[in-house]
Amino acid sequence: MTDRILTVRMEAHPADSNTLDRYEATGGYATLRKALVEMSPEQIRDEVKAANLRGRGGAGFPAGVKWGFLAPAEPRYLVINADESEPGTFKDRQLLERDPHQLIEGIVLSSYALGVNHAFIYIRGEYARPARRVQRAVEEAYDAGYLGENILDSGLALDVMVHLGAGAYICGEETALLNSLEGRRGEPRLKPPFPAVEGLYAKPTIVNNVETISNIPWIIANGGSAYDAIGPEGSRGTRIFSLSGHVARPGNYEVVMGMTWREMIYQIGGGIRDGNELKCWIPGGASAPWFTPAVLDEPVTLDDAGRLGSMLGSGGIVVMDETTDVVAAALSIVKFFAHESCGQCTPCREGATWLERILQRIVTGHGREADIGLLLDVCDNISPGLRWPPAQTTICPLGPSLVSPITSIMTHFRSEVEAMIRHAEPAGV
Ligand code: SF4
Repeated sequence: MTDRILTVRMEAHPADSNTLDRYEATGGYATLRKALVEMSPEQIRDEVKAANLRGRGGAGFPAGVKWGFLAPAEPRYLVINADESEPGTFKDRQLLERDPHQLIEGIVLSSYALGVNHAFIYIRGEYARPARRVQRAVEEAYDAGYLGENILDSGLALDVMVHLGAGAYICGEETALLNSLEGRRGEPRLKPPFPAVEGLYAKPTIVNNVETISNIPWIIANGGSAYDAIGPEGSRGTRIFSLSGHVARPGNYEVVMGMTWREMIYQIGGGIRDGNELKCWIPGGASAPWFTPAVLDEPVTLDDAGRLGSMLGSGGIVVMDETTDVVAAALSIVKFFAHESCGQCTPCREGATWLERILQRIVTGHGREADIGLLLDVCDNISPGLRWPPAQTTICPLGPSLVSPITSIMTHFRSEVEAMIRHAEPAGV
Protein backbone atom coordinates (compact mmCIF):
# COMPACT_ATOMS: atom_id res chain seq x y z
CA MET A 1 0.00 0.00 0.00
CA THR A 2 1.43 3.40 -0.90
CA ASP A 3 1.54 5.94 1.95
CA ARG A 4 -0.74 8.40 0.24
CA ILE A 5 -3.64 5.97 0.53
CA LEU A 6 -5.41 6.29 3.84
CA THR A 7 -7.54 3.18 4.10
CA VAL A 8 -9.82 2.26 6.93
CA ARG A 9 -11.67 -0.99 6.73
CA MET A 10 -14.98 0.07 8.18
CA GLU A 11 -15.73 -3.27 9.82
CA ALA A 12 -13.04 -2.44 12.39
CA HIS A 13 -15.49 -0.57 14.67
CA PRO A 14 -15.84 -1.69 18.33
CA ALA A 15 -19.08 -3.54 19.10
CA ASP A 16 -20.59 -0.63 21.08
CA SER A 17 -19.63 2.12 18.63
CA ASN A 18 -23.32 2.98 18.17
CA THR A 19 -23.83 3.98 21.82
CA LEU A 20 -23.74 7.46 23.30
CA ASP A 21 -21.24 6.36 25.96
CA ARG A 22 -18.73 5.20 23.37
CA TYR A 23 -19.27 8.25 21.19
CA GLU A 24 -18.72 10.67 24.09
CA ALA A 25 -15.72 8.67 25.33
CA THR A 26 -14.06 9.24 21.95
CA GLY A 27 -14.71 12.98 21.87
CA GLY A 28 -18.23 12.88 20.47
CA TYR A 29 -20.42 16.02 20.85
CA ALA A 30 -17.38 18.05 22.05
CA THR A 31 -17.43 19.91 18.74
CA LEU A 32 -21.11 20.70 19.12
CA ARG A 33 -20.60 22.02 22.67
CA LYS A 34 -17.81 24.27 21.46
CA ALA A 35 -19.49 25.42 18.26
CA LEU A 36 -22.75 26.42 19.95
CA VAL A 37 -20.79 28.75 22.23
CA GLU A 38 -18.01 30.00 19.98
CA MET A 39 -19.38 29.99 16.44
CA SER A 40 -22.20 31.76 14.66
CA PRO A 41 -24.34 29.90 12.13
CA GLU A 42 -22.66 31.91 9.40
CA GLN A 43 -19.20 30.79 10.54
CA ILE A 44 -20.27 27.14 10.33
CA ARG A 45 -21.65 27.68 6.83
CA ASP A 46 -18.36 29.33 5.85
CA GLU A 47 -16.32 26.36 7.13
CA VAL A 48 -18.45 23.88 5.19
CA LYS A 49 -18.07 25.98 2.08
CA ALA A 50 -14.31 26.26 2.57
CA ALA A 51 -14.08 22.47 2.99
CA ASN A 52 -15.25 21.94 -0.59
CA LEU A 53 -17.18 18.93 0.63
CA ARG A 54 -19.01 17.37 -2.30
CA GLY A 55 -22.19 15.43 -1.63
CA ARG A 56 -21.71 11.70 -1.14
CA GLY A 57 -25.15 10.60 -2.32
CA GLY A 58 -24.50 10.47 -6.05
CA ALA A 59 -24.57 13.85 -7.77
CA GLY A 60 -21.42 15.15 -6.04
CA PHE A 61 -22.79 18.69 -5.69
CA PRO A 62 -20.81 20.88 -3.23
CA ALA A 63 -22.66 20.82 0.10
CA GLY A 64 -21.72 24.39 1.08
CA VAL A 65 -23.03 25.74 -2.21
CA LYS A 66 -26.27 23.78 -1.84
CA TRP A 67 -26.72 25.22 1.64
CA GLY A 68 -26.30 28.69 0.13
CA PHE A 69 -29.41 28.14 -2.01
CA LEU A 70 -31.69 27.69 1.01
CA ALA A 71 -34.48 30.26 0.68
CA PRO A 72 -35.08 32.52 3.69
CA ALA A 73 -38.75 31.54 4.24
CA GLU A 74 -39.81 29.85 7.51
CA PRO A 75 -40.04 27.10 8.54
CA ARG A 76 -37.17 25.37 6.81
CA TYR A 77 -36.18 21.75 7.04
CA LEU A 78 -33.17 19.46 6.89
CA VAL A 79 -33.79 15.99 5.50
CA ILE A 80 -31.18 13.25 5.66
CA ASN A 81 -31.37 10.90 2.73
CA ALA A 82 -30.69 7.45 4.20
CA ASP A 83 -32.59 5.63 1.45
CA GLU A 84 -29.44 3.91 0.27
CA SER A 85 -30.94 1.79 -2.48
CA GLU A 86 -28.46 2.02 -5.35
CA PRO A 87 -27.37 -1.57 -6.04
CA GLY A 88 -23.77 -2.12 -4.97
CA THR A 89 -23.87 0.59 -2.30
CA PHE A 90 -23.92 -0.20 1.42
CA LYS A 91 -21.74 2.46 3.07
CA ASP A 92 -24.51 4.50 4.71
CA ARG A 93 -25.86 1.35 6.32
CA GLN A 94 -22.62 1.03 8.23
CA LEU A 95 -22.58 4.70 9.27
CA LEU A 96 -26.17 4.40 10.51
CA GLU A 97 -25.56 1.13 12.30
CA ARG A 98 -22.12 1.77 13.77
CA ASP A 99 -21.88 5.55 14.17
CA PRO A 100 -25.38 7.08 14.47
CA HIS A 101 -24.28 9.76 16.95
CA GLN A 102 -21.75 11.14 14.48
CA LEU A 103 -24.68 11.65 12.09
CA ILE A 104 -26.81 13.23 14.83
CA GLU A 105 -24.01 15.62 15.82
CA GLY A 106 -23.70 16.54 12.14
CA ILE A 107 -27.45 17.12 11.96
CA VAL A 108 -27.45 19.44 14.99
CA LEU A 109 -24.47 21.44 13.69
CA SER A 110 -26.04 21.68 10.23
CA SER A 111 -29.45 22.66 11.61
CA TYR A 112 -27.83 25.39 13.71
CA ALA A 113 -26.03 26.65 10.61
CA LEU A 114 -29.17 26.58 8.46
CA GLY A 115 -31.70 27.94 10.95
CA VAL A 116 -33.60 24.63 11.02
CA ASN A 117 -35.72 23.44 13.96
CA HIS A 118 -37.05 20.21 12.41
CA ALA A 119 -34.89 17.55 10.80
CA PHE A 120 -35.88 14.18 9.37
CA ILE A 121 -33.87 11.01 8.76
CA TYR A 122 -35.50 9.07 5.93
CA ILE A 123 -34.28 5.45 6.08
CA ARG A 124 -35.11 2.80 3.50
CA GLY A 125 -37.61 0.25 4.75
CA GLU A 126 -35.23 -2.69 4.38
CA TYR A 127 -32.76 -1.14 6.86
CA ALA A 128 -34.53 -2.39 9.97
CA ARG A 129 -31.45 -2.75 12.18
CA PRO A 130 -29.87 0.56 11.15
CA ALA A 131 -33.22 2.25 11.77
CA ARG A 132 -33.48 0.74 15.25
CA ARG A 133 -29.95 1.88 16.05
CA VAL A 134 -30.62 5.40 14.79
CA GLN A 135 -33.92 5.62 16.68
CA ARG A 136 -32.18 4.50 19.86
CA ALA A 137 -29.39 7.04 19.30
CA VAL A 138 -31.94 9.83 18.75
CA GLU A 139 -33.60 8.90 22.06
CA GLU A 140 -30.22 8.91 23.82
CA ALA A 141 -29.45 12.32 22.31
CA TYR A 142 -32.77 13.74 23.57
CA ASP A 143 -32.12 12.37 27.06
CA ALA A 144 -28.62 13.86 27.10
CA GLY A 145 -29.78 17.31 25.96
CA TYR A 146 -28.27 17.17 22.47
CA LEU A 147 -31.75 17.34 20.92
CA GLY A 148 -35.00 18.99 21.97
CA GLU A 149 -35.63 22.42 23.46
CA ASN A 150 -32.70 24.65 24.46
CA ILE A 151 -29.92 22.28 23.39
CA LEU A 152 -26.96 22.49 25.82
CA ASP A 153 -28.45 25.78 27.13
CA SER A 154 -27.75 27.47 23.82
CA GLY A 155 -31.33 28.44 23.04
CA LEU A 156 -31.29 26.17 19.97
CA ALA A 157 -34.35 23.94 19.55
CA LEU A 158 -34.24 20.95 17.25
CA ASP A 159 -36.49 17.95 16.83
CA VAL A 160 -35.32 14.98 14.81
CA MET A 161 -37.75 12.43 13.42
CA VAL A 162 -36.76 9.03 12.05
CA HIS A 163 -38.96 7.89 9.17
CA LEU A 164 -38.88 4.48 7.50
CA GLY A 165 -39.66 4.25 3.79
CA ALA A 166 -41.55 1.33 2.30
CA GLY A 167 -38.71 0.00 0.17
CA ALA A 168 -38.88 1.81 -3.16
CA TYR A 169 -35.63 2.61 -4.97
CA ILE A 170 -37.03 5.80 -6.42
CA CYS A 171 -37.47 7.31 -2.95
CA GLY A 172 -33.71 7.81 -2.95
CA GLU A 173 -34.35 10.59 -5.48
CA GLU A 174 -34.68 13.65 -3.29
CA THR A 175 -38.05 14.94 -4.49
CA ALA A 176 -39.63 11.45 -4.47
CA LEU A 177 -38.28 11.13 -0.93
CA LEU A 178 -39.99 14.38 0.05
CA ASN A 179 -43.28 13.20 -1.48
CA SER A 180 -42.98 9.94 0.44
CA LEU A 181 -42.21 11.81 3.66
CA GLU A 182 -45.37 13.87 3.12
CA GLY A 183 -47.38 10.65 2.79
CA ARG A 184 -47.78 10.85 -0.99
CA ARG A 185 -46.71 8.37 -3.67
CA GLY A 186 -42.93 8.26 -3.97
CA GLU A 187 -42.76 9.95 -7.36
CA PRO A 188 -40.08 12.46 -8.39
CA ARG A 189 -41.17 16.07 -8.88
CA LEU A 190 -40.26 18.25 -11.81
CA LYS A 191 -37.41 20.65 -10.98
CA PRO A 192 -37.34 23.63 -10.66
CA PRO A 193 -38.43 24.49 -8.06
CA PHE A 194 -35.58 22.80 -6.26
CA PRO A 195 -36.09 21.62 -2.67
CA ALA A 196 -33.91 24.43 -1.30
CA VAL A 197 -36.66 26.81 -2.44
CA GLU A 198 -39.75 24.61 -2.27
CA GLY A 199 -39.18 21.25 -0.64
CA LEU A 200 -40.90 19.44 2.20
CA TYR A 201 -44.45 20.80 2.70
CA ALA A 202 -43.50 23.37 0.01
CA LYS A 203 -41.00 24.96 2.40
CA PRO A 204 -37.24 25.49 1.89
CA THR A 205 -35.49 22.17 2.50
CA ILE A 206 -31.94 20.89 2.34
CA VAL A 207 -31.63 17.21 1.48
CA ASN A 208 -28.21 15.76 2.27
CA ASN A 209 -26.82 12.24 2.26
CA VAL A 210 -25.84 10.39 5.47
CA GLU A 211 -22.12 10.36 4.68
CA THR A 212 -22.14 14.03 3.70
CA ILE A 213 -23.58 15.11 7.06
CA SER A 214 -21.37 12.63 8.95
CA ASN A 215 -18.40 14.68 7.71
CA ILE A 216 -19.65 17.91 9.34
CA PRO A 217 -18.41 17.33 12.93
CA TRP A 218 -14.85 16.71 11.66
CA ILE A 219 -14.97 19.77 9.42
CA ILE A 220 -16.16 22.03 12.24
CA ALA A 221 -13.65 20.55 14.71
CA ASN A 222 -10.66 20.89 12.38
CA GLY A 223 -11.66 23.71 10.05
CA GLY A 224 -12.78 23.73 6.45
CA SER A 225 -9.28 24.44 5.18
CA ALA A 226 -7.93 21.28 6.91
CA TYR A 227 -10.55 19.21 5.11
CA ASP A 228 -9.80 20.99 1.86
CA ALA A 229 -6.15 19.95 2.25
CA ILE A 230 -7.05 16.24 2.07
CA GLY A 231 -7.11 14.60 -1.34
CA PRO A 232 -6.94 16.01 -4.86
CA GLU A 233 -8.71 19.16 -6.02
CA GLY A 234 -12.37 18.50 -6.76
CA SER A 235 -12.43 15.36 -4.58
CA ARG A 236 -11.55 16.63 -1.13
CA GLY A 237 -11.73 14.68 2.11
CA THR A 238 -12.11 10.97 2.64
CA ARG A 239 -14.78 8.92 1.00
CA ILE A 240 -16.28 5.53 1.77
CA PHE A 241 -16.42 3.08 -1.13
CA SER A 242 -18.46 -0.12 -1.05
CA LEU A 243 -16.36 -2.68 -2.88
CA SER A 244 -18.22 -5.78 -4.00
CA GLY A 245 -18.40 -8.42 -6.70
CA HIS A 246 -15.45 -10.59 -7.64
CA VAL A 247 -12.77 -8.98 -5.47
CA ALA A 248 -10.98 -11.08 -2.87
CA ARG A 249 -11.78 -8.70 0.02
CA PRO A 250 -15.17 -7.02 -0.47
CA GLY A 251 -16.27 -4.44 2.10
CA ASN A 252 -16.57 -0.77 2.93
CA TYR A 253 -13.32 1.20 2.80
CA GLU A 254 -12.75 4.80 3.80
CA VAL A 255 -10.03 6.24 1.57
CA VAL A 256 -8.51 9.49 0.41
CA MET A 257 -9.42 9.80 -3.25
CA GLY A 258 -6.77 10.09 -5.95
CA MET A 259 -5.42 6.53 -5.92
CA THR A 260 -5.63 4.60 -9.16
CA TRP A 261 -8.31 2.05 -9.97
CA ARG A 262 -5.54 -0.57 -9.99
CA GLU A 263 -4.73 0.29 -6.36
CA MET A 264 -8.41 0.28 -5.45
CA ILE A 265 -9.12 -3.14 -6.93
CA TYR A 266 -5.81 -4.96 -6.46
CA GLN A 267 -4.47 -3.48 -3.21
CA ILE A 268 -7.54 -2.45 -1.26
CA GLY A 269 -9.82 -5.12 -2.72
CA GLY A 270 -7.10 -7.77 -2.62
CA GLY A 271 -7.33 -8.47 -6.36
CA ILE A 272 -9.68 -10.74 -8.24
CA ARG A 273 -11.06 -13.91 -6.63
CA ASP A 274 -9.49 -17.26 -7.52
CA GLY A 275 -6.69 -15.56 -9.45
CA ASN A 276 -9.07 -14.74 -12.31
CA GLU A 277 -8.65 -11.87 -14.75
CA LEU A 278 -10.52 -8.61 -14.31
CA LYS A 279 -13.13 -8.07 -17.02
CA CYS A 280 -14.81 -4.77 -16.06
CA TRP A 281 -16.31 -2.89 -13.12
CA ILE A 282 -19.11 -0.48 -12.31
CA PRO A 283 -17.46 2.53 -10.65
CA GLY A 284 -20.37 4.24 -8.88
CA GLY A 285 -23.49 2.14 -8.37
CA ALA A 286 -25.69 0.38 -10.92
CA SER A 287 -26.56 3.66 -12.70
CA ALA A 288 -22.96 4.29 -13.74
CA PRO A 289 -21.46 3.31 -17.11
CA TRP A 290 -18.87 0.54 -16.75
CA PHE A 291 -15.09 0.74 -16.87
CA THR A 292 -12.67 -1.81 -18.32
CA PRO A 293 -8.99 -2.55 -17.52
CA ALA A 294 -7.97 0.11 -20.09
CA VAL A 295 -8.50 2.75 -17.36
CA LEU A 296 -6.91 0.83 -14.45
CA ASP A 297 -4.16 3.42 -14.06
CA GLU A 298 -6.51 6.42 -14.04
CA PRO A 299 -7.13 8.22 -10.72
CA VAL A 300 -10.22 7.57 -8.64
CA THR A 301 -11.70 11.07 -8.43
CA LEU A 302 -15.09 12.55 -9.23
CA ASP A 303 -13.80 14.65 -12.09
CA ASP A 304 -11.66 11.91 -13.65
CA ALA A 305 -14.55 9.46 -13.55
CA GLY A 306 -16.66 12.06 -15.39
CA ARG A 307 -13.90 12.71 -17.92
CA LEU A 308 -13.77 8.98 -18.65
CA GLY A 309 -17.51 8.81 -19.29
CA SER A 310 -18.87 7.60 -15.97
CA MET A 311 -19.20 8.71 -12.35
CA LEU A 312 -18.30 7.79 -8.79
CA GLY A 313 -22.01 8.19 -8.02
CA SER A 314 -22.96 6.58 -4.75
CA GLY A 315 -19.53 5.01 -4.18
CA GLY A 316 -20.59 1.45 -4.99
CA ILE A 317 -17.88 -0.36 -6.97
CA VAL A 318 -19.00 -3.68 -8.45
CA VAL A 319 -16.15 -5.75 -9.89
CA MET A 320 -16.72 -8.44 -12.54
CA ASP A 321 -14.16 -11.05 -13.52
CA GLU A 322 -13.60 -12.92 -16.77
CA THR A 323 -16.27 -15.51 -15.98
CA THR A 324 -19.03 -12.88 -16.01
CA ASP A 325 -21.76 -13.08 -18.62
CA VAL A 326 -22.00 -9.34 -19.20
CA VAL A 327 -25.31 -9.54 -21.09
CA ALA A 328 -26.90 -11.33 -18.14
CA ALA A 329 -25.34 -8.74 -15.81
CA ALA A 330 -26.85 -5.92 -17.88
CA LEU A 331 -30.21 -7.68 -17.87
CA SER A 332 -30.09 -7.98 -14.11
CA ILE A 333 -29.58 -4.21 -13.76
CA VAL A 334 -32.23 -3.33 -16.35
CA LYS A 335 -34.71 -5.66 -14.63
CA PHE A 336 -34.08 -3.86 -11.37
CA PHE A 337 -34.67 -0.41 -12.85
CA ALA A 338 -37.71 -1.60 -14.82
CA HIS A 339 -39.19 -2.88 -11.57
CA GLU A 340 -38.39 0.38 -9.75
CA SER A 341 -39.59 2.84 -12.44
CA CYS A 342 -42.36 4.92 -10.91
CA GLY A 343 -44.14 5.02 -14.29
CA GLN A 344 -44.69 8.77 -14.64
CA CYS A 345 -42.66 9.18 -17.87
CA THR A 346 -43.43 7.20 -21.02
CA PRO A 347 -39.81 6.71 -22.20
CA CYS A 348 -38.85 5.24 -18.82
CA ARG A 349 -42.01 3.23 -18.14
CA GLU A 350 -42.38 1.72 -21.62
CA GLY A 351 -38.69 1.74 -22.55
CA ALA A 352 -37.73 -0.16 -19.41
CA THR A 353 -40.08 -3.01 -20.26
CA TRP A 354 -38.90 -3.10 -23.88
CA LEU A 355 -35.25 -3.19 -22.87
CA GLU A 356 -35.87 -5.92 -20.33
CA ARG A 357 -37.76 -8.10 -22.84
CA ILE A 358 -35.18 -7.71 -25.60
CA LEU A 359 -32.28 -8.52 -23.28
CA GLN A 360 -34.22 -11.42 -21.81
CA ARG A 361 -34.72 -13.01 -25.22
CA ILE A 362 -31.04 -12.53 -26.11
CA VAL A 363 -29.91 -14.14 -22.86
CA THR A 364 -32.30 -17.07 -23.28
CA GLY A 365 -31.09 -17.78 -26.82
CA HIS A 366 -33.97 -16.20 -28.75
CA GLY A 367 -32.19 -13.02 -29.84
CA ARG A 368 -32.77 -11.56 -33.31
CA GLU A 369 -30.30 -9.85 -35.63
CA ALA A 370 -32.25 -6.58 -35.33
CA ASP A 371 -32.14 -6.59 -31.52
CA ILE A 372 -28.92 -4.63 -31.16
CA GLY A 373 -30.26 -1.76 -33.25
CA LEU A 374 -33.57 -1.93 -31.42
CA LEU A 375 -31.90 -1.82 -28.00
CA LEU A 376 -29.89 1.26 -28.97
CA ASP A 377 -32.94 2.93 -30.52
CA VAL A 378 -34.99 2.49 -27.36
CA CYS A 379 -32.04 3.77 -25.30
CA ASP A 380 -31.80 6.81 -27.58
CA ASN A 381 -35.46 7.59 -26.93
CA ILE A 382 -34.79 7.57 -23.20
CA SER A 383 -31.48 9.45 -23.29
CA PRO A 384 -31.05 11.20 -26.66
CA GLY A 385 -27.59 10.99 -28.19
CA LEU A 386 -26.45 8.28 -25.75
CA ARG A 387 -23.77 10.65 -24.47
CA TRP A 388 -22.19 11.35 -21.10
CA PRO A 389 -23.30 13.15 -19.01
CA PRO A 390 -26.66 11.90 -20.22
CA ALA A 391 -29.42 13.97 -21.77
CA GLN A 392 -32.80 12.90 -20.47
CA THR A 393 -36.37 13.01 -21.69
CA THR A 394 -37.61 11.98 -18.28
CA ILE A 395 -38.38 13.68 -14.99
CA CYS A 396 -35.59 12.00 -13.04
CA PRO A 397 -32.29 10.25 -13.76
CA LEU A 398 -33.71 6.73 -13.44
CA GLY A 399 -34.44 6.81 -17.18
CA PRO A 400 -30.80 7.32 -18.21
CA SER A 401 -29.78 4.76 -15.55
CA LEU A 402 -31.53 2.11 -17.66
CA VAL A 403 -29.32 3.04 -20.57
CA SER A 404 -25.92 2.77 -18.81
CA PRO A 405 -25.59 -1.05 -18.69
CA ILE A 406 -26.70 -1.37 -22.32
CA THR A 407 -24.37 1.25 -23.76
CA SER A 408 -21.62 -0.28 -21.59
CA ILE A 409 -21.96 -3.76 -23.09
CA MET A 410 -22.41 -2.34 -26.59
CA THR A 411 -19.28 -0.22 -26.25
CA HIS A 412 -17.01 -2.79 -24.62
CA PHE A 413 -18.48 -6.22 -25.31
CA ARG A 414 -20.50 -5.93 -28.50
CA SER A 415 -18.94 -9.09 -29.94
CA GLU A 416 -20.30 -11.05 -26.95
CA VAL A 417 -23.81 -9.71 -27.54
CA GLU A 418 -23.62 -10.51 -31.25
CA ALA A 419 -22.26 -13.97 -30.54
CA MET A 420 -25.08 -14.65 -28.10
CA ILE A 421 -27.61 -13.68 -30.76
CA ARG A 422 -25.92 -15.93 -33.34
CA HIS A 423 -25.29 -18.75 -30.88
CA ALA A 424 -21.57 -18.51 -31.66
CA GLU A 425 -18.41 -18.04 -29.63
CA PRO A 426 -17.59 -14.31 -29.35
CA ALA A 427 -14.58 -13.14 -31.36
CA GLY A 428 -11.34 -13.24 -29.38
CA VAL A 429 -12.62 -15.52 -26.60
FE1 SF4 B 1 -40.48 7.82 -12.72
FE2 SF4 B 1 -38.78 6.81 -14.53
FE3 SF4 B 1 -39.84 9.20 -14.90
FE4 SF4 B 1 -38.05 8.85 -12.94
S1 SF4 B 1 -37.67 8.66 -15.13
S2 SF4 B 1 -39.95 9.99 -12.81
S3 SF4 B 1 -38.59 6.76 -12.31
S4 SF4 B 1 -40.93 7.24 -14.83
